Amino acid sequence: MRYRFCCPAALLGAALSLSAAAQPTKSDAQARKLHEQVFTVDTHADTPMNLVKPGFDLTKDNDPAEAKLDLPKLKRGGLDAVFWAVYMGQGPRTPAGNAAAKQEALRIFEAIHAAIKAHPTELALATTPAEGVRIRKAGQRAIFIGIENGYPMGRDLGLLQQYYNLGARYMTLCHGTNNDLCDSATDPTGPEYQGLSPLGVQAVAEMNRLGMMVDISHTSDSTFYDVLRVSKAPIIASHSAARAISNVPRNLSDDMLRALAKHGGVVQLSLFSPYVRPLPPDAARDAAVQAFNAKWKIKNFLNVYSLPEPEQKQALAEMDELSKRFPVPLATVQDAANQIDHIVRVAGIDHVGIGGDFDGGTELDGLRDVGEYPNLTIELVRRGYSRRDIEKIWSGNLFRVMRAAEKARSAAPAAAAGK
Ligand SMILES: [Zn+2]
Repeated sequence: MRYRFCCPAALLGAALSLSAAAQPTKSDAQARKLHEQVFTVDTHADTPMNLVKPGFDLTKDNDPAEAKLDLPKLKRGGLDAVFWAVYMGQGPRTPAGNAAAKQEALRIFEAIHAAIKAHPTELALATTPAEGVRIRKAGQRAIFIGIENGYPMGRDLGLLQQYYNLGARYMTLCHGTNNDLCDSATDPTGPEYQGLSPLGVQAVAEMNRLGMMVDISHTSDSTFYDVLRVSKAPIIASHSAARAISNVPRNLSDDMLRALAKHGGVVQLSLFSPYVRPLPPDAARDAAVQAFNAKWKIKNFLNVYSLPEPEQKQALAEMDELSKRFPVPLATVQDAANQIDHIVRVAGIDHVGIGGDFDGGTELDGLRDVGEYPNLTIELVRRGYSRRDIEKIWSGNLFRVMRAAEKARSAAPAAAAGK
C-alpha cells in the first residue's frame, strides 16, 4: 500500500544514497556472489498498483521515484521471487462495498496474471516453494501472490477458495482500520472485537484448510494473539518490524516476536523507513501531524486510505504538502540490519525474513529500490551472518512456514469449508 506521508525520500534527492556504506572490500564481492547464489524472496511489494496504471512499462529501468520494482531492477537486485500484493484500502462494510472490493481484487489478480503472461521468458506464477525453485532453475523470476486486507472476502468465506485458485498464498487479515474479520492496529475508533471477530475465526480456519498463510501485519496485538490461538498452521507477518526499535502500533513487540517464533512462524522485515527507525523528534512536525489527524478525524496516516473518495484525494494532497514541509532523513541499510539483529536476538534466526514493501512507500538510504538488495546481504555478511543464516533470512524460513501451511491443508477436515 502507498504511504506518502512518511515517505519524503524523493524530496531529499539521491544525495543520501549509499552515503553510510563503507568502501567495498573483497569480502563484499564474496557477499555479492553469495547474494546471487541464495534463493531470495521478498514477501511484500505493491507493484500491482503500477501494473494497473496505463502506460507502465515493467521492462523499463524506471526512475525509482516512479517504480521500485521492474524487470531490470529484479535482475540487478538478484531477487528470485516476490509476492505481489492484491492491496485494498478498507472501504464501506456494506454488501455494495464488499461487492466492489471483490471486483477490484479480481481486476488486480487479472493485472498480475496479464503481466506474467506478457513476459513469459522472465516471469512465472509460483504457488509453492517447489515451483519457485523450479522457476529459478529455468532462469525466470517467480511471482507469488498475497492479498493485503481481508476486505475483498467481505462476509463470503467461499471467496477464499476462489482467490486461492487465482494464486493467493497469504491474506493479510486487515489494513489500516478494523474490518469484518478483526481489529486493526491503527483504527481511529479503537478495538471492535478485542481481536478476531467470529467471522475472522472462521476465515483463519478456512485459510488453514486451503493452505493459505495467515498474515498478521497491520492487525492489532489482540488479533495477533487470537490468530496464534486458533491457527493450526504457523503464521507470517508479511511486512512488519520490531516495536522495540520503532515504536509504532503496527510493529511487533518483543513478546509478540517470541510468541510468533514459538508457534513456528516468521516475521518478514518491512523496510519502510519510519518502521525501521523512528523519526527524529520534531515538535513542529508533530503539531502539524496532529492538526492533520484532527482535521480528518484519523489516528494514523494509514487511515487516510479508508476515507471516501473525494476526501481521500484531498487528504493525500495535504499529506504530500506536509511531507514537503517536514522532510526527514531515511533509515539506512545498517538500520535495517539492526532490526534483523534485534529480531534474531529475540525470536531466533529461524524466524526472520524480508518483506520490503517496495512500491508501497519503502526507500532506504543505500536501498532505494529492489535493484540494491545486494547491499543488505553485504551488510549481513559484514556483521558475521553465515551463509546458512543468510539462506534462512532470504527464503528458508518463509518457505518452511509455507510448507507447513501446505501440510496443514491436507490434515484439515474439509468440513471447515466456507459457506
Ligand atoms: Zn501494508
